[in-house]
Amino acid sequence: MGLSKTIWTNPTEFLRNQQPENPVLFFSPSALQAAARRFIDGFPGMVTYAVKSNPGEEVIENLAAAGIRGYDCASSFEIDLIRRLAPDAAIHYNNPVRARSEIAHAVAKGVKSWSVDSQSELAKLIEMVPAQDSEISVRFKLPVAGAAYNFGAKFGATAEVATALLRRVAEAGFIPSLTFHPGTQCTDPAAWETYIRTAAEIARNAGVTLARLNVGGGFPSHRLMGVVPQLEATFTLIDRVASEAFGAARPMLVCEPGRGLCGDAFTLAARVKAVRDEAHVFLNDGVYGTLTELPLIGVIDRTEVLTPEGAKREGAIQPRIVFGPTCDSVDRLPGEVALPADIAEGDYVIVQGMGAYSTVTNTRFNGFGDLTMATVLSLKV
Ligand SMILES: *Cc1c(COP(=O)(O)O)cnc(C)c1O
Repeated sequence: MGLSKTIWTNPTEFLRNQQPENPVLFFSPSALQAAARRFIDGFPGMVTYAVKSNPGEEVIENLAAAGIRGYDCASSFEIDLIRRLAPDAAIHYNNPVRARSEIAHAVAKGVKSWSVDSQSELAKLIEMVPAQDSEISVRFKLPVAGAAYNFGAKFGATAEVATALLRRVAEAGFIPSLTFHPGTQCTDPAAWETYIRTAAEIARNAGVTLARLNVGGGFPSHRLMGVVPQLEATFTLIDRVASEAFGAARPMLVCEPGRGLCGDAFTLAARVKAVRDEAHVFLNDGVYGTLTELPLIGVIDRTEVLTPEGAKREGAIQPRIVFGPTCDSVDRLPGEVALPADIAEGDYVIVQGMGAYSTVTNTRFNGFGDLTMATVLSLKV
């Protein structure tokens, strides 16, 4: 996977010229920088980037250039990546379970912000991290709906446990904060309201004044034509509810979007390998490639089909079963995918909004997954 230096006008120009046999992810630096500016201008606090959603160097470099000054990291690899590409940026180590060797590595790299969701992991931090100027954010979870995929199944303390943890963080001399993640692709702003009001209760019950409240990632990208992300409305709601819930004790706010920043900066072109007996469509990319997420959080309907010459297929829409290239029956897109009836072998299926959880989850299973990256001025085909 290498990023070529050529900058193409749009995906169509590249496809017409190159007729690639491997899947291609098109990256638009200007779309990424525009997303970063939208968050920086609109969010009422510090904007950090959740590196796991797309750790591509071109992504980090463009976000840094656009003014993103903080990065949410979950591993030693991600910490080293940010130290190399954005040496002066803040690193928030927000994976609440860490090996002692990982804690030692992060301390050596100057990490000053940590999250925690259990007594046992807090004990490790108190033992190994110098409290001076270090923040520990207690991560809590609530049973709230609104997201496409619930992160609370793995991480987050109950409000009761979070209260005890927050007290212990403050007593140990760390900067006390709270954090939550409403779940990824969260299209319901009300989820943030419930979390922020509960955060204020936890702080009151613990008798602790919060330094910061990290309202997580979860900001949606544009996956369905009919569901356009309401980012500004969500920012406004977060701002209002934080003031109402905390009053004079309002903490500084932090957010850590992954998908919301990188999702709409990439577009996939997957080639049609075969239309088997005029029924099933086989693509050269699938759930072991960049489309891993689709069975977990649903299809993206922002698709178009191009002929090898770059002309748009305009046939009537016909739902089809779509398989990926591997020999595993799991390698199928969920449900049936609405595609033009005249789709043919050699065509390209264009899928918008493919920047998050796509390059990082691409595997080489069965010998597929050789992904080409191309830079474009515009993602419009
Ligand atoms: C994955 C993750 C994020 C980013 O989530 P998105 O839904 O991609 O915005 C933010 N914070 C933490 C702690 C995460 O694990």
